[in-house]
Amino acid sequence: MKFPATMIKIALALLVLLALIGPLAVVPPAAALDIEGPASEPDNPPDPAAPPPPGGPTALANPALGQSLPPVGDDPLGAFSRRPLEGRFIIPEGGTFLDPLRDDPHYGVDYACPDDYLNGLTTDFYPVGPGYVTARSSCVLCFAEGDSHGSVTERWPRHNFGWGGFVLIETPYNASVSIYIMYAHLARDFVSLGDYITPDEAIGVVGNSGYSQETHLHMEVRYGTPGRFWNADFSQWETLDRWLATMFVNPAWVIFPDNHYAFVAALDEWTGLVPKAPDLP
Ligand SMILES: [Zn+2]
Repeated sequence: MKFPATMIKIALALLVLLALIGPLAVVPPAAALDIEGPASEPDNPPDPAAPPPPGGPTALANPALGQSLPPVGDDPLGAFSRRPLEGRFIIPEGGTFLDPLRDDPHYGVDYACPDDYLNGLTTDFYPVGPGYVTARSSCVLCFAEGDSHGSVTERWPRHNFGWGGFVLIETPYNASVSIYIMYAHLARDFVSLGDYITPDEAIGVVGNSGYSQETHLHMEVRYGTPGRFWNADFSQWETLDRWLATMFVNPAWVIFPDNHYAFVAALDEWTGLVPKAPDLP
């Protein structure tokens, strides 16, 4: 009689133990672990066997290579639909592209939020479309030549040729063309090299770094062959030359959906001009 009773006690003890540890031992679904993945999974993950692209001190592979834009309806640029700031002023007035009032060409549009900085507030900015952080400079030494009160006496041409702290976002349009959007004069940014970012999350704080006299955001849109600026050092003349050799466009082409057709036409035309590798026999 004693032997079965002992067995029952052991069995009961095991049951209690299982009931206690059972909930802890549940394995979460794989998706729940993927908290650091991109907001939307790219269709074509990069080939891990492919060699890393040239340039840059890291051995990281450019995550933008081999990707394409997530389609939104009939508009290939449908994921671009916002300004970098929330309904704020545009400087020059009206968002004039290639401002004729400046001595040098101005290849972008400047955005500012005077209400914020007059009230001592900072202004976050957003990417106007999805993409990958392909280059960034946090501009740690941007104000090194200032005086003890923080006034900057000389900014040009140091610090990334006047851009100061910036992030450069690469959006792959197709296998031959990437869109590059630079956000410059930043106070700080919230991103890392290779991050996939989307327009619904702020990526940095508007600042006054580099060649800038007021707190504002400089946004510049260009396009060219993919992977041209992966981890590029924008303090180097060769990078500047490469940047200026890309095609530049009015940012209104990506910001306002009514204008997307013009940009799509330009991208598609340029795609046809890019030399292709000869077909294998
Ligand atoms: Zn500007």
